[in-house]
Amino acid sequence: MASGKGHLAGGFLFALLFLHIITNYFFSPSPIDIILYISIALMFAVWPDVDIKSIGQKFFYSVFFITDAYLIIMHEYKVAAYFGLIIILPVLAKHGGWTHSVPAMVLVPSPLLIYPIYNSGIFDLSGAPYYIAALTGYFSHLVLDGRFRLWK
Ligand SMILES: [Zn+2]
Repeated sequence: MASGKGHLAGGFLFALLFLHIITNYFFSPSPIDIILYISIALMFAVWPDVDIKSIGQKFFYSVFFITDAYLIIMHEYKVAAYFGLIIILPVLAKHGGWTHSVPAMVLVPSPLLIYPIYNSGIFDLSGAPYYIAALTGYFSHLVLDGRFRLWK
């Protein structure tokens, strides 16, 4: 099991890989998007350990606070409100290990994907890069903890 710092480093590495892939094969993200992608990936890289008192927990709340304050300053109230929802999830998580499962990896960040569709009423996939950034970070956590094995 990797430490909180290990997960941050791993999440950052996977986030860079993610940025590399989208800028080379899909589109050029704006500087704000790059910051958001990396923040989201780092948040989800440490999120699975929020059910224990960890660097992950402390880091998660710190990044959350800074990002949410930034969104409010930028008048992005809807996004800020959604971010506020995420912060509730760790409190609901019991120490049982479900945060380290693949279904949790897919489901926990899913509001990032669903919210724009729900909000616009059309099939708006604008949340997809954020969702994939979250998946990237989450995936890095499971890999570093040895929970996600493609081999074996
Ligand atoms: Zn873990």
